[in-house]
Amino acid sequence: MGQQVRDGFVELYGTEPEGVWSAPGRVNLIGEHTDYNDGFVMPFALPHTAVAAVSRRTDGILRLHSADVEGGVVELTLDALTPESDKNWTAYPAGVLWALREAGHPVTGADIHLSSTVPSGAGLSSSAALEVVVALAVNDLFELGLQRWQLARLCQRGENVYVGAPTGIMDQTASACCEDGHALFLDTRDLSQKQIPLDLAAEGMRLLVVDTQVKHSHSEGEYGKRRAGCEKGAALLDVDALRDVPYGELDAALARLGDEEEVVRLVRHVVTEDERVERVVGLLESGDVRAIGPVLVEGHASLRDDFRISCPELDLVVDTALASGALGARMTGGGFGGSAIVLADVADVNTITKAVEEAFAAAGFTAPRVFEAVPSPGARRLS
Ligand code: ADP
Ligand code: MG
Repeated sequence: MGQQVRDGFVELYGTEPEGVWSAPGRVNLIGEHTDYNDGFVMPFALPHTAVAAVSRRTDGILRLHSADVEGGVVELTLDALTPESDKNWTAYPAGVLWALREAGHPVTGADIHLSSTVPSGAGLSSSAALEVVVALAVNDLFELGLQRWQLARLCQRGENVYVGAPTGIMDQTASACCEDGHALFLDTRDLSQKQIPLDLAAEGMRLLVVDTQVKHSHSEGEYGKRRAGCEKGAALLDVDALRDVPYGELDAALARLGDEEEVVRLVRHVVTEDERVERVVGLLESGDVRAIGPVLVEGHASLRDDFRISCPELDLVVDTALASGALGARMTGGGFGGSAIVLADVADVNTITKAVEEAFAAAGFTAPRVFEAVPSPGARRLS
């Protein structure tokens, strides 16, 4: 896709771009709703990427164009960028430049043309892919010398403050820091990280992503409520973040929460989810990939019953896949729609895919999109 995006840039702006960069979407293997609790996550990069052709400008103008969106080139003045003023897709890349400039980096403008194969709104982080590809390009072109994790933090600031979406740090870090053939074990407190080899094919397994193609309209408000509930739990337990509640002391912590039924459920999910991430890391490091299946299933039950962010479509994927021989399955991403992941032996992939498609048809749901996810490279310069 790099050449196509380069050609698109030339057609739009009449000159060659200074370079072309790519940044992937991600799928999270385990560690859901832990990233705003200073906890652990374990995403890997998808082969689906946002690709951007970019040149510098010196006149304070930012020109943006997406091959995937109607509406032509959007021209913005960097000095005039104002948080939460832009409700369009352009807020994501503009937010990155806003955050860089707010942090004092000398970014004087850019021409950008991009295109993305990351499904949008499917819980696979098409927004972070857009942000990170722009951040990496600008970092290279203006020789800012920022490290990957710093770019991720600035992208998150752009999305939180400029776009106005209260997301955690996982998505941007995954897109910026993942490596080919590995999952990223990330501690979201200090962004310390470890690359964990994940070669499912060598073990005769596949990981499927099932995009339910649904996004329930209340998802944003519910996300905010879960976040607020987690913060309340941390305050009641007198810790900085729920990450600081040791798994071994969970029962005592829950007892201290008394009759705060909702907070009890949220705390239980976050603390057990951090433990599940650590368990999956241990299993992968000891070479027992197959054994992560039941841990994924436990994670789904926790998101469904304690965190309460699943939905009928996601539950149907998980239940059908498990009934058809999957080794493990769970919803992934923010919840209330988006995607689920399914771990399966190669021999069972077709049966499971067909069963999920048939179950969706029988339930009257929109047909899901099923694809195989292979741990792929993180953000990089293509040319
Ligand atoms: P997710 O990150 O899970 O895909 P978000 O709602 O966070 O969902 O981000 C989706 C938004 O990102 C889209 O509504 C759009 O504004 C922007 N976006 C994603 N892909 C593209 C693209 N190819 N071109 C322009 N904007 C895009
Ligand atoms: Mg997003």
